[in-house]
Amino acid sequence: MGIDGGPRTAVVIGAGVVGLSTAWFLQERGVEVTVVDRDGVATGASWGNAGWLSPGLAIPLNEPGVLRYGLRSLLDRSAPLHVPATPDPGLWAFLARFAANCTWKSWGRAVRANLPFNEECLEAFDVLTANGVEAPTVEAPIMAAFETPRQAVALLHELRRINESGLKIRYSAFEGEEVGRQAPQLSSRVGAAIRLDGQRYVDPGHFTRSLADAVTARGGVIRTGFRVTEVRRDAGGLTVVAGGEDGGREGDGVRADAVVLATGAWVNRLGRPWGVRVPVRAGRGYSFTVPTDEPVPGPVYLPAVRVACTPYQGRLRVAGTMEFRDADAPLYQRRVEAIIASARPLLTGVSWEERTDTWVGPRPVTPDGRPLVGAAGARGVFVAAGHGMWGLTHGPITGRMLAEQITTGKQPDALRDFDPTR
Ligand SMILES: Cc1cc2nc3c(=O)[nH]c(=O)nc-3n(C[C@H](O)[C@H](O)[C@H](O)COP(=O)(O)OP(=O)(O)OC[C@H]3O[C@@H](n4cnc5c(N)ncnc54)[C@H](O)[C@@H]3O)c2cc1C
Repeated sequence: MGIDGGPRTAVVIGAGVVGLSTAWFLQERGVEVTVVDRDGVATGASWGNAGWLSPGLAIPLNEPGVLRYGLRSLLDRSAPLHVPATPDPGLWAFLARFAANCTWKSWGRAVRANLPFNEECLEAFDVLTANGVEAPTVEAPIMAAFETPRQAVALLHELRRINESGLKIRYSAFEGEEVGRQAPQLSSRVGAAIRLDGQRYVDPGHFTRSLADAVTARGGVIRTGFRVTEVRRDAGGLTVVAGGEDGGREGDGVRADAVVLATGAWVNRLGRPWGVRVPVRAGRGYSFTVPTDEPVPGPVYLPAVRVACTPYQGRLRVAGTMEFRDADAPLYQRRVEAIIASARPLLTGVSWEERTDTWVGPRPVTPDGRPLVGAAGARGVFVAAGHGMWGLTHGPITGRMLAEQITTGKQPDALRDFDPTR
């Protein structure tokens, strides 16, 4: 421990955007960090996601309409929401808890709890990119597209509620021919659109790797192929122990004053012994990249089919699906085909057959729309996980707030509703 009682050293488990952001902001406060990952940097959800930094849309998932939608989806194998018909009692218990949270009251609580994160998340990115993280964020509006003006009503309603909660977002709605003028990449099937201003996007894999490079450049150590099986406490402090499976270094251990569990959708495995009882399940999403006839100027959102498209290295990254399956299950080609079938009629000039980079990754989903950020049930052990659909947008601000708590011992107000032992 340092002379002020704060930790001198920390191990962060998980080299995704959340773990690396926490490591960077801990370094900012003078803590020596080691980051360990069972695979490598950005090998979980932080690589192939849609790359949106979108405080205006970082809305919790447990919106009441999702329930009706979810029940309908259970009967449709090509629906964007997919729950495999397997006898997994843990999954069904999670979904029951999730369903119980699909009320305006619980959703409103999650919206209010996420408000400080949404207000400060872009600034936290600016701190990183102004101080050595070599990955630019790009400002661009998000264009949400609908076949009919009626389909746009639900999103307009949500945006109004978000504005009432205190987060001021600018948006405008279009119909008919104006849609084509605003967004030529949308097909003639699209009859209405909502443009959300003040949003940004990044290349998420590049951003996460640049963040790792910055942590290393500031003296941090990143150890990959290090699968943690246990976090142990003894009189001398905490030890993070690696196991032998899949390239883990059996018997290897790293000691530190503080440990941060930033293992995304896998957090329950290490967190349970430390009092983390909120279940986190993998809501797996898929993505791939396609060439387009014309460059697409900014992100496109297709809410009816739950697809997000983003300019990516001169092409378009297309992301979608929420599949509640084990985080480590293989990629199912059928889900990719379902995304294409749903998005193809709404976009023009896309070469769907020339897709590359097909990917699946696990969103760490909690049942109440709130992440787990803060102290676990034992001194020195902390959690930063469970950000669901918005862990990229909220990664840096999570790191900044948690580093403050770890080094000062005081919980920032903004983290009160994210207590991992709730
Ligand atoms: C298709 C899709 C689109 C998305 N689009 C967006 C978007 O546009 N904007 C946005 O904000 N968010 C988006 N998200 C969500 C976002 O990707 C996640 O919330 C975020 O990446 C979570 O980051 P993380 O660091 O918590 O987890 P991860 O990136 O999954 O990192 C966790 C790490 O922990 C490691 N690990 C696990 N267990 C162990 C262990 N025992 N020992 C050592 N290491 C371990 C893993 O290898 C992994 O690298 C999207 C997600 C998906 C799937």
